[in-house]
Amino acid sequence: MTLKVGVIGTGNIGADHVRRLASQVSGVRVTAVFDVATARAAQIAQGVGAVAHGSWTALVDDPDVAAVVIASPGPLHAEQVLACIEAGKLVLCEKPLATTGQDALMVVAAEVAFGRRLVQVGFMRRYDRAYRVVKAAIDDGSIGEPLLAHMVHRNASVPDSFSSDMAMTDSVIHEIDTVRWLFGQEVVATTVVASRPSPQAAAGLRDPQLVLFELADGAVVDVEVFVNCQYGYDVRCEIVGSTGTVSMDNPSTNSLRRGGQLIESVPADWRVRFDTAYLDELQQWVHGLAAGVVGGPSAWDGYAAAVVANCAVQALADGARTKVTMVDRPSLYA
Ligand code: NAP
Repeated sequence: MTLKVGVIGTGNIGADHVRRLASQVSGVRVTAVFDVATARAAQIAQGVGAVAHGSWTALVDDPDVAAVVIASPGPLHAEQVLACIEAGKLVLCEKPLATTGQDALMVVAAEVAFGRRLVQVGFMRRYDRAYRVVKAAIDDGSIGEPLLAHMVHRNASVPDSFSSDMAMTDSVIHEIDTVRWLFGQEVVATTVVASRPSPQAAAGLRDPQLVLFELADGAVVDVEVFVNCQYGYDVRCEIVGSTGTVSMDNPSTNSLRRGGQLIESVPADWRVRFDTAYLDELQQWVHGLAAGVVGGPSAWDGYAAAVVANCAVQALADGARTKVTMVDRPSLYA
């Protein structure tokens, strides 16, 4: 059976998701789209034979939409996911699930009240092949007990509207989910220190920042987030275990040896680096739904990541170690 999907938000990633769903993912058809940029939405809809709705609520109510991909700006996600749950529609919500822990908790509560999982959150790194090698090395005991992680998250540049808080709620939120997934542990405390700002950072932006996460079992993670590094998109990690380490560099496809130099390419942006991960995420989502299974990162994962990101924002503001407090995990997410 073909899954009928509606896509809310057809900007950068929403348009990419429509393209993937329409041309690269099997078992699915894009039947509807909505974006406040109506001309772009109409053009994208026409390209895939979908309806362009006049509002996102009309898309959620459309009987020809069984599942919704939410790729609108983050502050709109919680309200849109809640509407989907109320309508009993399946959802793949781009990260973040919500910009605050309180809003994310409302989604968790609504899904728990509904009685079964409808929501997956777009933490696509869990589908990335290089990250999965790291995860396998931890899970099969290859490096002993995981004790430390060093992580790097660099973007070439960001728009002037990007704030210091967004370095946590938009960028490091990926590392937060990755750490929880790799270690199978919750984050219990965080400390954040900003360097003197890069000359390339917009006025007022604290960039780069160093983040420390303490996990429930005592493991410790450091993350460098630098969103104006200029040279490319650079996401890396090394996990230090009791008997070995496993690391993930940029998957490099080309290298040039010339004039006494070895030159390797760095991905330009997240689109290039995680292209296959987005595709695998969507394909596995569709396959899972066809089998009646909602898997992948859950609303609980979205809640936990939002709470930790909020604490990291607070930790930078206070200049102090900040403890993370979460509600008990509902049995739906056991
Ligand atoms: P974007 O290019 O700004 O796209 C968002 C789109 O939603 C824009 O076209 C925006 O229109 C539109 N929009 C605004 N209000 C809306 C509403 N009420 N209902 C529906 N659409 C509305 O942003 P993006 O980079 O695609 O990011 C979208 C989301 O995906 C964000 O949450 C972001 O964090 C996430 N994301 C995730 C990844 C990942 O690696 N998983 C990568 C990129 C983005 P206007 O431009 O006219 O406001």
